[in-house]
Amino acid sequence: MEIRLSKDPTLYRARFLDPVVEPPIEDGAVITARGVIVESGPYQRVKKGFLGPEQDLGDVLLLPALVNVHTHLELSCLKWRLTPTGSFVGWVKNLLRLRGQIRPEETIAAAQEALKEMWRQGIGLLGDHGNTGLSVAVLREAPLDSVFFREVIDFRGKSTLKEYLKENLTSGRVTYSLAPHAPYTVSPLLMQAIKSWTRKYGLPFSLHVAESPEEVTFLKTGKGPIRELLAERGQWSASFVPPGLSPVFYLDQLGVLDQDTICVHLTQASCEELELLAQRGSRPCLCLRSNTFLGVGIPKVPLMLKLGLKPCLGTDSLASNDRLSVFAEMAAVAKFFPEIPADVILKMATIWGAQALKRKDLGLITRDVRADLLVIPWGENFYEREGLINHPPEQLGRLYG
Ligand SMILES: [Zn+2]
Repeated sequence: MEIRLSKDPTLYRARFLDPVVEPPIEDGAVITARGVIVESGPYQRVKKGFLGPEQDLGDVLLLPALVNVHTHLELSCLKWRLTPTGSFVGWVKNLLRLRGQIRPEETIAAAQEALKEMWRQGIGLLGDHGNTGLSVAVLREAPLDSVFFREVIDFRGKSTLKEYLKENLTSGRVTYSLAPHAPYTVSPLLMQAIKSWTRKYGLPFSLHVAESPEEVTFLKTGKGPIRELLAERGQWSASFVPPGLSPVFYLDQLGVLDQDTICVHLTQASCEELELLAQRGSRPCLCLRSNTFLGVGIPKVPLMLKLGLKPCLGTDSLASNDRLSVFAEMAAVAKFFPEIPADVILKMATIWGAQALKRKDLGLITRDVRADLLVIPWGENFYEREGLINHPPEQLGRLYG
C-alpha cells in the first residue's frame, strides 16, 4: 500500500499509531495537509470537528519513516564483492583495489538500486557519505530526504575546501555538507577547517571515529598498518606528529566535538571517551552489522545510554553489510543488548537519527512534522514494539507527501 497524500486535509485512521515519543495509541489517527501532519492522536479526539475525507487503513500500525544516519551509496556496487579479511586495513585495501575497477555508470546504477531498497525498507531520511559526488544526482531524484556528506580524504592537507564544494547544491530534499572521512585520513588543519565551515552554516558534521584497533594504535603511536597504508597511498605526511591520544580525545583537542558532531562506529571508544562525548553532546552512530562483518568489535551501547548519549543507527555501505535496512540494525541492537528496552531502540532508529542530521521535522509522529509514515500490516491483536524490532515486517506500506 503506497498512498501519495492529498494536498487537502485528509484523516487516516489506523489500529495503532506509534508517535515514538510517547506510548503507542490504539485506534489512532492523523490528519495530513500539504505533506504535513496537522493533527494526530486517538481517533475519537482527532475526528472531532473534522469535516474532510477520512480513510480507515484498518489493522495496521502507523510508524514514522526510519532514519539511516550513515551509508555510502557510491559503494553499493561492491555488494557481495568483499569478504571479511580479519584485518580492517586489509578490507580497506581490497575495497580501494576493487573500487578502482568500477565505472561511474555502474556506481550510479548500483546507488539507484540501493536507494530503492532503502525506500522499500522504510527509510525516510538518509545520511550519505561520498567522496566522488556521484550519488548527489541520485539523491536528488529520490522521494526521501537526505544529507549528503561530501567526504574529504587528504592526510597531507594539500587540498582546499573549495575543491569539495563544487557540487554544493543544497536543493529540494538534499542538504549538502562536508565531512572528514576519519581522524587518520584528514590532516588536523583540514579537519578544523571542515568543522568551521559546517559550524558557519549550521550543518551536521559526521566522521568515522574509533572504528578499529589499528586507528587507536596509529593515533597513539604513529605506527602500525594505517601508517603503512598512508605511505602506500602517497598520503603519509612527514610533518604529522602523533597526538598520543585515543581518537575521541584527539578530536576534542582539535575542537571538533560538539552537539552537531556525529561519531560513527565508536567500537573502540573507552568509558572516558564516551564520558567526554556525553559532555560535548555529540551523537554516536551505531553500525553494528558492519562492525560484525569487519570483526572490529562492538561499541558499549548500554554505557552510552547510561551517560545520556543518544545513539542513532546507520547501515554503513554494502561493502560491509548485506542489507541497507534500519529494521535489521534495530534487530542487531536488540540481539547484542537484550537489556535495552524496545522503545529506546525505536528512538535510535527514528527521532535520535533525525536529530543527529538536524531535522526536527522527521522521526516522530506529532503535529507540524513531515508526513512520511510507514504502514505496517499487523496480524496480531496486540502491538508490542519488541515484536516489531525482533521480527522486522516483510511488507511495508507508506503514506508520503
Ligand atoms: Zn562508513
